[in-house]
Amino acid sequence: MAEVILKNVSKIYDDKTKAVDNVNITIADKEFIVLVGPSGCGKTTTLRMIAGLEDISEGEILIDGKVINNLPPKDRDIAMVFQNYALYPHMSVYENLAFGLKLRKLDKHEIDKRVNEAARILGLEKYLDRKPKALSGGQRQRVAVGRAIVRNPKVFLFDEPLSNLDAKLRVQMRTEISRLHKELGATMIYVTHDQIEAMTMGDRIVVMKDGCVQQIDTPLNLYNLPANKFVAGFIGSPSMNFIKGEIAEENFNLFFQSTFGNLKFIIPDEKKNSFIEKKIKKVWLGIRPENIHLTNKDKPSVSVASLKSEILLIEPLGNQTLIYFNFENNQLVSEHHGFISISKGTIHEFLIDLNKIHFFDEESEMRIT
Ligand code: ATP
Repeated sequence: MAEVILKNVSKIYDDKTKAVDNVNITIADKEFIVLVGPSGCGKTTTLRMIAGLEDISEGEILIDGKVINNLPPKDRDIAMVFQNYALYPHMSVYENLAFGLKLRKLDKHEIDKRVNEAARILGLEKYLDRKPKALSGGQRQRVAVGRAIVRNPKVFLFDEPLSNLDAKLRVQMRTEISRLHKELGATMIYVTHDQIEAMTMGDRIVVMKDGCVQQIDTPLNLYNLPANKFVAGFIGSPSMNFIKGEIAEENFNLFFQSTFGNLKFIIPDEKKNSFIEKKIKKVWLGIRPENIHLTNKDKPSVSVASLKSEILLIEPLGNQTLIYFNFENNQLVSEHHGFISISKGTIHEFLIDLNKIHFFDEESEMRIT
């Protein structure tokens, strides 16, 4: 068992910077949870407080029901994998893997068994005699993960472990770490600023901004039901488009009208009640790029709103095409399957799928519907 609970946890550096602000997270036994957010949002500080490398200014951290605030790192039964690998350059891979166990005075047979088992799990058997400088980046990262595995800890912490690897290797290591999670059945807490890494690896994701938790949810819920405009814009690539406007009533219908009036449509029935209940008038309309179409030939039954705009830029990516266009002083982007033959500088009609739109309160930026 390894349930980790953060209760009203804050970190204040030098009595001024509130790096982590009243964070509450309950991480279930065997869960893979990802902390994600822009640079400086407090992810690493949160992880370091769990590891015991940073004091907790306020609140409590519990592992399996026991408060660990004052427990030294070595007694927390936690292993951390760092971004820079932190390998000993003068030691072989075997010695790097065995080092922590020797310090703990485990007997030689047990050390040998654990090192060989970790090497097997990570495919490092061939490299046990090599020094770190004779390994590739991906192999070094595996040794860093191996050093955590041999300790057989209750909880694994990962601090941006893949950020020094090239794009292809990152994808490969992502699947390896996910496989490892299944094989070891351990609780894992993983920090990244990369939302794709978060979406592909996490059972649940904690989105942070300015030291505060914005939303804790499954990848799919974060994508489909973002709690606020920040989460909506942070999760998904390319990002969600936003158009400012107002909700108005006319002839017993509720309309959305963009600020300069170039987009106007009736609010779909299933979304109407949220506006009537909450009495919100000024809003941000949110549309994901894949929900803007150039034609609704394929799905004529889908209700759409239309806007006209000049095409600014086309990005053919092979399996998809991104089209950038201007709308009321905003740059918007639409995403289309395959190759689209269209010319820069031409005026085009774009169709917004009204079943897939989001609304956020302009002032609080919280989700309306
Ligand atoms: P990144 O993705 O860039 O690593 P992060 O989300 O992990 O960012 P933290 O490293 O936790 O963010 O930093 C959170 C805030 O705390 C930042 O404003 C940072 O400048 C500040 N901070 C971090 N460490 C210290 C420190 N030792 N002393 C003072 N301020 C610090």
